[in-house]
Amino acid sequence: MSEVKANIPKRNTVQRKTVEHVINDAEGPLTVQEIHEHANAKCDVGIATVYRIVKALHEGGDIKCVVLPDGQNRYEAAHLGHHHHFRCRVCQRVFDLHICPVSLPEGTTLPGGFLVDGHELTLFGTCPDCAAKADEVDPVEAMNVIETDSNNE
Ligand SMILES: [Zn+2]
Ligand SMILES: [Zn+2]
Repeated sequence: MSEVKANIPKRNTVQRKTVEHVINDAEGPLTVQEIHEHANAKCDVGIATVYRIVKALHEGGDIKCVVLPDGQNRYEAAHLGHHHHFRCRVCQRVFDLHICPVSLPEGTTLPGGFLVDGHELTLFGTCPDCAAKADEVDPVEAMNVIETDSNNE
């Protein structure tokens, strides 16, 4: 049993590094399920371990929890600067946007005397991957339409 115990810390280090890489390389904040999917493809790791690692990284201040309007907790690297999120309505993925579409400089006072010192914003729509898929004409479907037409004649 001592051999198994001795292997645990090393194994956890590999898994922790993998989870950190997955979060740092992601196109946007990820749910624990998504982190697990990506991490498990690189090294054998269970969802319970991923939860533990994510909790430790969060408590250590390495990652931030992001809660979007869908109410799910997602995690991203803590060092990212001001940015916003885009959620694709087709594939449900969330992407980081590196532009800020809000022209409200810090210190702006809105009518009524509301002094603005920050904002949060989530945009919704179709991501580039899904937009490209929607534009493609399915060749099989197009053939079926032609065949059906000729059979009818
Ligand atoms: Zn999409
Ligand atoms: Zn902004």
